[in-house]
Amino acid sequence: MNHLDGSDRRWILVTGSNRGIGRATALKLAGDGFGVVLHCRGEVERLQALRDDIAAFGGASRALVFDIADRAACRAQIEADIVASGSYYGVICNAGLARDAVFPGMADDAWDTVLRTNLDGFFNVLKPALMPMIRSRRGGRIVVLSSVAGQIGNRGQVNYSASKAGLIGAAKSLALELASRNITVNCIAPGLIETDMIESAPRQEILKQIPAGRLGSADEVAALAAYLCSDAAAYITRQVIGINGGMI
Ligand code: NDP
Repeated sequence: MNHLDGSDRRWILVTGSNRGIGRATALKLAGDGFGVVLHCRGEVERLQALRDDIAAFGGASRALVFDIADRAACRAQIEADIVASGSYYGVICNAGLARDAVFPGMADDAWDTVLRTNLDGFFNVLKPALMPMIRSRRGGRIVVLSSVAGQIGNRGQVNYSASKAGLIGAAKSLALELASRNITVNCIAPGLIETDMIESAPRQEILKQIPAGRLGSADEVAALAAYLCSDAAAYITRQVIGINGGMI
C-alpha cells in the first residue's frame, strides 16, 4: 500500500484513462494507494464517473483533458497541473489509437494521425513531466503501452506497428538515461485485449492466433502496469513485457 496520507501521496498520470486499459489501470493504481491524474481527449463524462468510482473507495484523483498529439496543449496542461499540485511519481503512456488499412490503401492521414498520436504523444506528454519528476529525487515509474504489433508486425497495421515499435526504442533509450535516478522505464506489449479498440476486429480469425484461446482483459494488463509501478519492481527497467496469451 502506498502513502494514503494526502501530504506524501504519490501521483501517477494515466493517459487515456476514461476507458479500456487506461481506466482499469487508473482504478488499480488508485486501489493500491496512488493518487491518479486521469486523462482523456474527449469523453469527459466518463472521466467524471471514474473520479466518482475512485472517490467511493477513498482514492484520490484529478483529471486533465487534452489531445496528446497537440504538443502545446500537453505542455500547457501538464505544466499547470504540476505547478498547482506537484510533480508526478509516474506516467503511464497509455493513450493511443489505430487507423488500420492495408498499406497500398492507407491514406496519408491514417499514417500521420497514428504516428503523431502514438509516437509523438510519448514526447509531448513526457517532456513536460520529466524534469519535475527528476528534481523531486523520489525516483519514479514510466510505463509505455506498446503492442505485440510493434514487436512482430501485423497485416493492415503498418502505421500502428511503426508507432508501437518506435515506442519500444524510445522507452529503452529513456530507461538508460534515467536508471541512475531510480526512474524505471518499461514497455508493456499487449496482444489482443477486450476493449473498444478491437471492437471491429475479426474475432474468430483473431482467436486462432492466440494459444490461450481467448482475448485478454483490461484488468490483466492493469495488474501488470500496477506491478511495474510498485516498489517491488524497482529493479525492472528497459524491458518489454508481453501480455498476449502466448502469441509470441
Ligand atoms: P481504447 O480505444 O479503449 O482507449 C483509448 C484511450 O486513448 C482513450 O482513453 C482515448 O481517449 C485515448 N486517446 C486516443 N487518442 C488520444 C489523443 N489523441 N489524445 C488523448 N487521448 C487519446 O484503447 P485500449 O484501452 O484498448 O488501448 C490502450 C493502449 O493499449 C493503446 O495505446 C493501445 O494502442 C494499446 N494496446 C491495446 C491493445 C488492445 O488489444 N486493446 C493491444 C495492444 C496495445 P478518448 O476516449 O477521449 O478519445
